[in-house]
Amino acid sequence: MNIPVAQDAAYVAPQLLIDGEWIGVEARETSPVVNPANGRVVGHVPHATAADLDRALAAAEREFPLWRKIGPRERGRILKRAADLMHERGDAIARLATLEMGKPLAEARIELHVATEELEWFAEEARRTWGRVPPGRFGETRFSVHKQPVGPSAGFSAWNFPIGNACRKMGTALAAGCPMIYKPGEEAPASALAVARCLVEAGVPPGVISVVFGVPDTISRHLLASPIIRKISFTGSVPVGKHLVKLAADSMKRTTMELGGHAPVLVFDDADQENVLDQSVQRKFRNCGQVCVSPTRFYVQDAAYDAFCDGFAARAKTIRVGDGMDPDTMMGPMVHGRRRDAIEALVKDAVAQGARLLAGGERVGNEGFFYAPTVLADVPDSARIMSEEPFGPVAVLNRFSDIDDAITKANHLPFGLAAYAFTQSVARIHRLADDVEAGMLGINSFNISMPEVPFGGIKESGMGSEVGVEGLDAYLVTKTLSIT
Ligand code: NAD
Repeated sequence: MNIPVAQDAAYVAPQLLIDGEWIGVEARETSPVVNPANGRVVGHVPHATAADLDRALAAAEREFPLWRKIGPRERGRILKRAADLMHERGDAIARLATLEMGKPLAEARIELHVATEELEWFAEEARRTWGRVPPGRFGETRFSVHKQPVGPSAGFSAWNFPIGNACRKMGTALAAGCPMIYKPGEEAPASALAVARCLVEAGVPPGVISVVFGVPDTISRHLLASPIIRKISFTGSVPVGKHLVKLAADSMKRTTMELGGHAPVLVFDDADQENVLDQSVQRKFRNCGQVCVSPTRFYVQDAAYDAFCDGFAARAKTIRVGDGMDPDTMMGPMVHGRRRDAIEALVKDAVAQGARLLAGGERVGNEGFFYAPTVLADVPDSARIMSEEPFGPVAVLNRFSDIDDAITKANHLPFGLAAYAFTQSVARIHRLADDVEAGMLGINSFNISMPEVPFGGIKESGMGSEVGVEGLDAYLVTKTLSIT
């Protein structure tokens, strides 16, 4: 393991952003922000009071009529300026993300690049949020269908892509004409705030976005109880998503839910095994496995299985684990001790139930929240890791016999976010496209995302999509107009 690099001094103290005002801790409650590479507290995030939240709500209500009237062209210009500012500050923002949640700096830079592309996409696509004019049938009566911004929104997201999630949540709402009160993960507040600062400096008027932190359940209950909020968008775990949908139902708020997954990977024996292994190991351990679409359950066809296990374990052992600030690091720590403990328990349970441990399976170093890249094989379905989302650096390898067996195994969990398959057979590809239950299916690659296509899950993995035309549409309501 590499020696941690002390960079904590570069940290920017988190604040609240409410009605255009940047507000520090003052007399508020706080929670610590911890550098997961060494366990040291780097700052404290202020918790919004009920009065702060009411102020953010009042500002969103006040600004909505003005922000929607500005129109998509001007809103798009502001978003593009914000993307430019993010590029200018890219290195500093990426460092904040690494410091707060541990990912290698190179990954944080890629995240920033992808995030700005999304801002640019929203900026352009908002100009095409038009309706339609169908041919009439009642003589003089003319019908038209109009798209209008839904109203003030609330966004909640996880800490795993603190730059990307902030751009996705606030960028979509703003492009569509909706103010947003945004609550990023308390674990990684400063990188999300850096995005908000770019938006404000690019010209988003005071009160159109507010950024708040606190005890998540307290904040969401307060915001969801308000009739001012017309839409919520959440990125996080399935149980919290279900809880928020129930709260939203009381006042029939629209919801977009990007929830957890347990992505299957079906590797057929006609695939280019070396290439699949290279891709798989890189994707599995990206962001320390803390990715909702992370490949998790690898099912490998019988004839290819043993060599695949050997190849996976050998590659996993070459991953250099360390402080994300170190340029040699390939995988950083887990975000906090709670997640590291959860992974440790899942691995112990699987091994106790008969799984073979091919790599890792232990903590790394004496400080921080490091856990070794871990590979388990022959894991019984009764092991918790076969049905609970690990959200950490563990790959689970099992075998399958034929395509029916593979599809049954892929679909048997209640999740349906991402799935992947590797094969050269066109017939198989069509069958997989028809029958694998997932919101996103990658064939012969783990690349399943770009701004132009929807990102979202089915079954318990969520409702609705982000990005793509669908992502913007989720912030619009439809009005049918008849004029006689
Ligand atoms: P979590 O659901 O506990 O927390 C995720 C985020 O939601 C955090 O920022 C947290 O503060 C917030 N949150 C928690 N309870 C809340 C509440 N009552 N009201 C409002 N916000 C609340 O999950 P976690 O363990 O921190 O993160 C990992 C989970 O998030 C995994 O299940 C993962 O799959 C999921 N996730 C999904 C996506 C996606 O796009 N589908 C992306 C990232 C993470």
